[in-house]
Amino acid sequence: MSQQKCACPKCKCSVDSNAIEKNGELFCSHSCATGHADGSKDCGHNCQCGK
Ligand SMILES: [Zn+2]
Ligand SMILES: [Zn+2]
Ligand SMILES: [Zn+2]
Repeated sequence: MSQQKCACPKCKCSVDSNAIEKNGELFCSHSCATGHADGSKDCGHNCQCGK
């Protein structure tokens, strides 16, 4: 039951059972998983990691 952090470089959110896995890494949201390629500035958790 270890908590992990999102693999998005600037994201400090922890990932849980809802994590999205991509290339062996865990992301807290789809925005992070795509590297914010969609232009999103945040991950839906108020952390602006896509800026
Ligand atoms: Zn985040
Ligand atoms: Zn994230
Ligand atoms: Zn992110």
